[in-house]
Amino acid sequence: MISKVLIANRGEIALRVIRACQEMGIATVAVHSTADEKAMHVRLADESVCLGPAAAAQSYLCIPAIIAACEITGADAVHPGYGFLSENPKFADVLDAHAISFIGPSGDHIRLMGDKIAAKEKVKSLGIPVVPGSDGAVGDISQATKIADKIGYPVLVKAAAGGGGRGMKLAYQKADMEEAFATAKQEAKTAFGDEVVYIEKYLAKPRHIEIQIIADTHGNVAHLGERDCSLQRRHQKIFEEAPSTVLDKKAREKIGRVVVQAIKKLGYRGVGTIEFLYENGEFYFIEMNTRLQVEHPVTEMITGLDIVREQIHIAAGETLSFSQKNVTFNGHAVECRINAEHPQSFAPSPGTISQYHPPGGLGVRMDSAVYGGYTIPPHYDSLIGKLIIHGQDRAECLMRLKRALAEFVIDGVNTTIPLFEQLLQEEDFRNAQYDIHWLEQYLEQNAQ
Ligand code: ADP
Repeated sequence: MISKVLIANRGEIALRVIRACQEMGIATVAVHSTADEKAMHVRLADESVCLGPAAAAQSYLCIPAIIAACEITGADAVHPGYGFLSENPKFADVLDAHAISFIGPSGDHIRLMGDKIAAKEKVKSLGIPVVPGSDGAVGDISQATKIADKIGYPVLVKAAAGGGGRGMKLAYQKADMEEAFATAKQEAKTAFGDEVVYIEKYLAKPRHIEIQIIADTHGNVAHLGERDCSLQRRHQKIFEEAPSTVLDKKAREKIGRVVVQAIKKLGYRGVGTIEFLYENGEFYFIEMNTRLQVEHPVTEMITGLDIVREQIHIAAGETLSFSQKNVTFNGHAVECRINAEHPQSFAPSPGTISQYHPPGGLGVRMDSAVYGGYTIPPHYDSLIGKLIIHGQDRAECLMRLKRALAEFVIDGVNTTIPLFEQLLQEEDFRNAQYDIHWLEQYLEQNAQ
C-alpha cells in the first residue's frame, strides 16, 4: 500500500502524477524551488515543501532536501517524473535505504541503462538488435579510425554517459574523424563528467520508433506498442505519434515479443522505453529510458490505460492489472510539444502569460501546468505543455489538431504553435513521410 506520494518534479508532469494519485485516493506532496512558489503543482497537491533556491542543483536535484521533505510529510513513496532525478541510480538507492518506495525501477537497472555502452552490450546479449559499432569504449583516435574504417562512414562518436542528444559527433568521412573524436570526448567530459565514448554507424534515413514496456515485480511484462518520434530538432523530439505508420500488426507483435522476452530476462520493474532507430524494416536499439516518458500520453490515448496509475500499483507490489492479450490499440494519437520558444529561431521565451485558453472538445487533451498570469521562470525547460489529440485514424487526428491549434490562445510569450500550423500544411508531414533528419532539413530550407 502506498498512502502518500511525494512528486520530485515540477510543471506538467507533476500535475500528471497528482491527477493519478487523486483518482486513486492517495495523498500528494509537492516540492518546489523558491522560483516555483506560485506554480500549479504546489496549488494542487495536498501539501507542499520548499526545497531551496531556484537553481535545480539546490532544489529539484538536491537529494538530502527531498529525503527531508519525505520525512517531514510522512510520504511513503516518491514519483520522480522525467528529467531531474528520474534516472539517478543514487536517488533510487537512497530512497530504498530510507524505506521509501521509488516509483521506478531498481537503482541497479537505472545504473546499467545509464551507461550506454553497458546497456548496449546487455540488451544485445538478451536478443535485442543493436546499431553496428564498436564493442565498447574506444580509447584513442587510432582505434577509433580503425573501427570506423571497418563499419564504414559516416559514423557517430557518442558519449557513454550521454543524454538529451548531447555528446554526439558525426564524422562523414575519415578526414572528419580526428575532430569528431576529440570534440565528442571534450563535450562528454564537460556535460557529463565522463569522457568515455563509443562509435556507432550513422544511419542515414531512419525513423525513431520506441516500444513502451511495463513490468511488475511478479514477472509479468507487457508492451504497449510503439511511438514514432521521428520529428526531432537537435535530437530532441517535438512531435510524437502512435501507432507508427510504417509498422503493421505483424511487425509490431514481432518487436514487442523480442522486447518483452528481454525485459523478462532482465528482471526489470516498472515502466520503460526501448528506443530504436528503424530503417529498411530493421530495428536498431539506441537506448533504454528507465522512466516515464514525456510522450507517454499518446500510448495512453490509444490503449485507454493510465500508465502512471500502473506505475504506482507496481511500486506497491501489486500485479499488473492486465495482460498482453488485453492490450488493444484504438485509433491514432499525436502529441505536440508546445514550448515557450520562438517558432523560427527557437530562442527561449520566458515571461508572463497574459492570456491563456487551451483548446478542448472531443479527443483533445492538454497536459500543462500554466495559467493566465503565470510567469514562466527562466531556470528550467521551456515546455509550456503537451497538446495530445486522439482520433479514429491519423487523418481525423490531423484535422482535429488543426482546429485545436486554431483555438489555442496563449499571449505574452512566443510559442512553437505556429511551427505545428506550418507543418500541417506540408505534404510530407501529412503523409508521415519523414525520417529523423527531415525536420532539421525542413527548417534549414525554410530559414533561407
Ligand atoms: P540521447 O540519450 O542523447 O537522447 P540517443 O542515443 O537516444 O541519445 O540518440 C538521440 C537521437 O540521436 C536519436 O533519436 C537519433 O535522432 C539520433 N541518433 C542516435 N544514434 C544514431 C545513429 N546511430 N545514427 C543516426 N542517428 C542517431
